Amino acid sequence: MSPEPQYDAAVIGAGFGGMGAAIQLKRLGLDNLVILEREDDLGGTWHVNRYPGLAVDIPSSTYSYSFEPNPNWSRMYAPGAELKNYAERVADKYDLLRHMRFNTVVEGARWDEDNQFWIVNIADSESISAKYLLTATGFLSQPRMPDIPGIETFAGKVIHTTKWDDSYDLGGKKAAVIGTGATAVQLIPAIAPRLAELTVYQRTAIWVTPKQDVAIPRRVQKLYARVPLTQRIVRLIGSGILELLMISAVLHYRQAKFLNRAAEKAARKHMARQISDPELRRNLTPDYDFGCKRPTFSNDYYPTFVRKNVSLETTPISHIEPDGIVTEDGRKTVIDTLVLATGFNLWDVNFPAIEVIGRDDRNLGKWWRENRFQAYEGVAVPYFPNFLTLASPYSYSGLSYFTTIESQMKHMKRLFGEVGRRNASTFEVSAVANAEFLDRMTEHLKDSVFALGSCSTARSYYFNQHGEAAILRPTSTINAFREAGRFPLDAYTYA
Ligand code: NAP
Repeated sequence: MSPEPQYDAAVIGAGFGGMGAAIQLKRLGLDNLVILEREDDLGGTWHVNRYPGLAVDIPSSTYSYSFEPNPNWSRMYAPGAELKNYAERVADKYDLLRHMRFNTVVEGARWDEDNQFWIVNIADSESISAKYLLTATGFLSQPRMPDIPGIETFAGKVIHTTKWDDSYDLGGKKAAVIGTGATAVQLIPAIAPRLAELTVYQRTAIWVTPKQDVAIPRRVQKLYARVPLTQRIVRLIGSGILELLMISAVLHYRQAKFLNRAAEKAARKHMARQISDPELRRNLTPDYDFGCKRPTFSNDYYPTFVRKNVSLETTPISHIEPDGIVTEDGRKTVIDTLVLATGFNLWDVNFPAIEVIGRDDRNLGKWWRENRFQAYEGVAVPYFPNFLTLASPYSYSGLSYFTTIESQMKHMKRLFGEVGRRNASTFEVSAVANAEFLDRMTEHLKDSVFALGSCSTARSYYFNQHGEAAILRPTSTINAFREAGRFPLDAYTYA
């Protein structure tokens, strides 16, 4: 008789994704679970990112679990610290902390065919075994360090935005920020006033639209607490607007190009209102279609470039010297602080974030690279029994990470329910169901801005090494939820 695994389930990652999965497992009666987390606390992105200006850029009423509304958000777009507190409260309420093991770096996991369970290898510790394996390692969790020649020779302070050093005083410093993604858009206005000089190195401009942010008055918070339906209505309206923008302007570009153009126009007008210098405007204007790359919202990003102590540098960087950055035209800017807002590496190291070896020695990362990135309904892969991969190709609902998590929780409910009804020990998605899903997503993508728009200059992390924009699920959020609750049960085999 084969030995029993130590745990019903091992969840990798204690961010909102892993917490959602754990909540669902507990609801399904799988209480003997362990949550393995490489950081020293829970919260994922919202624990790791602590840079000045950090906030959500999806309205908080939408960017939270629908089953755990928080009436106390201080603003429509809550600051990052509130998200971290929210994660702690949810973990407390659902009694998740006792399952969490921090500072635990998972090196890999292997399906043990003889014993029909997963062996999870942990750095500097004993391996563990679990019947089910769920990876919730996030999409933006492997920081990208730019490979700029000479960067290692820089003698001043270097800070990546995911490793913010609160003890470092920016006052009076001459700093450079490399990168102009959503992180830089939040960071730059927050640090510029404190610095003596700031040079922003932009390789690719970003589309920025106005942010309709307001503080939420105490009386509204009280109303949300007393009548939760009111906050639900706000969530519904906010989500509807986002869905319209995301789905129609980006995914249904063929049918609704005018919406895409309207968003682009709104961003151009926003810039024109805030910057009068035509050359600066030209330099900050993207040369790719809206939505090819993740756009963002901000009211103080453009005005920051009008400040006397801030300059925008668009000449490519040649190399870095101990005391400054040299651009390709030979100009050197002397700095003492180098801030890397250079984002994350998704496609080389994050899919999957750990080595996962399934049945017949199939290596997930290798298989994805050789056979296109794919996962049935964004959660399951053939040859990987009892495994759900939650940060997967075609899983991300463009609306909000929380709608992604909750549709995955719904999928888990239906799947594990069937496993229970059949008294089965294993489940595995069929190759046919997986292939059909991939074909369907590929077909949907043909209508999107990624296929029909002008994206070649966007350098968008949505695209992988095969040239496919394989992160976002190219369907509506409603479709994702419907399928999560109704997918054909024979998409899986049970044994
Ligand atoms: P990002 O969007 O990938 O931006 C990284 C920036 O660094 C880009 O401008 C990139 O230029 C630049 N860069 C990278 N390597 C470089 C190099 N070697 N030389 C010059 N420039 C280089 O990363 P991010 O800004 O951290 O944002 C990532 C995602 O996090 C966002 O898209 C968003 O989904 C999420 N986010 C969310 C929030 C929120 O509030 N919810 C806030 C911040 C971030 P290229 O574009 O030319 O590659």
